[in-house]
Amino acid sequence: MDLEIFVKNNVFSWFEDRAGEEVVRSSSLSSIDDVGRAEISRYSEHLVLENLRYAFENSSYYRDLFKEKDVVVGEIDSLDVFREEVPLTSVEEVVGNHYRFMAVTRNDIFRGFTDSGKRILYTKEELKNLVKSISAGLETVGLDRDDRLLITFPKETEWGCPFLVKMAAVECDCTVMHTDHLTADEQVEKMGEFEPTAVIGSHPYLYTLAKTVDRMDIGLSGVDIDKMIMSRGCVYYPFNEDIRNEIERIYRCDVYDHYGTTETGFAVAIECQDKDGLHVNESEFYLEVVDPETLEPLGSGEEGELVVTTLSREGMPLIRYRTGDITSIDNSIHSCGSILSRLNGIKGEVGNKYPGGSGLPLF
Ligand SMILES: [Zn+2]
Repeated sequence: MDLEIFVKNNVFSWFEDRAGEEVVRSSSLSSIDDVGRAEISRYSEHLVLENLRYAFENSSYYRDLFKEKDVVVGEIDSLDVFREEVPLTSVEEVVGNHYRFMAVTRNDIFRGFTDSGKRILYTKEELKNLVKSISAGLETVGLDRDDRLLITFPKETEWGCPFLVKMAAVECDCTVMHTDHLTADEQVEKMGEFEPTAVIGSHPYLYTLAKTVDRMDIGLSGVDIDKMIMSRGCVYYPFNEDIRNEIERIYRCDVYDHYGTTETGFAVAIECQDKDGLHVNESEFYLEVVDPETLEPLGSGEEGELVVTTLSREGMPLIRYRTGDITSIDNSIHSCGSILSRLNGIKGEVGNKYPGGSGLPLF
């Protein structure tokens, strides 16, 4: 099930669950094929408002924030009002503050992820859902039962990022192997042994690996990769067509851009096989773009800071969370036929810690 079908399925199920209720009364969906932009928008709006109320009632951080800013949650009845009235949340507020963001009891939290000083909490059910999202992302770039996926994320304790990707690959019926952040020689040796058709890992690691393979002229005989998924997370790293072409030349494979941070559970958006914009996981996230200076909402196609609202997170919901990443959103139908919104790549970060073209940090 690729991301488009995944999102349409979730939206269709939501409409079915609410059959007869006012919120879905005027719709008549008989299959997921009937799910269009209007249905996705109605789903997003309802879940955003529902999550806003949930956060206010269950998270002490949001309760205090909304009271302080005079946000009357009950009066917010549309996405337009939501964008106008609800304040943004930034990373500085999350750092050291995760228990105030938490909307369940500590016993309900199964795993936390720490990154750049912030800790993000997940329930076990959320991690299981995450596996489904990641699996849909893998299928979007065409992974199936014939693929052998090499996972190169650094080793973590159980239910960490490589564990979740491994479970997702199993859902796609792929054969899987997990290595680690090995040296170029070691990683290529593993590739020779495992003979992967697909590789996934962090963007900076796979980029550095490719450059090292090229510079040291490490032989890739016996390595026949078809797809490489480069994941970009909390820290900005440049990616453009020149970088894509360079890595595709070195590995003789298709390279796909993937975006997901610790806060968002690693599964926000991924490119399809047309490699032109990242399809958004719209059943799990509501995305906006704002002007990073004025914080005013921007329209479709306008470049600014990406702001995320989670739609299904009970453990630690995030409302209008500033990612610090610069992008724009395209709502037109894609060349592949998908109706999902697309991120036009991550073009930079607010504050510009790694200015474009200045190179990548070394391992
Ligand atoms: Zn597409």
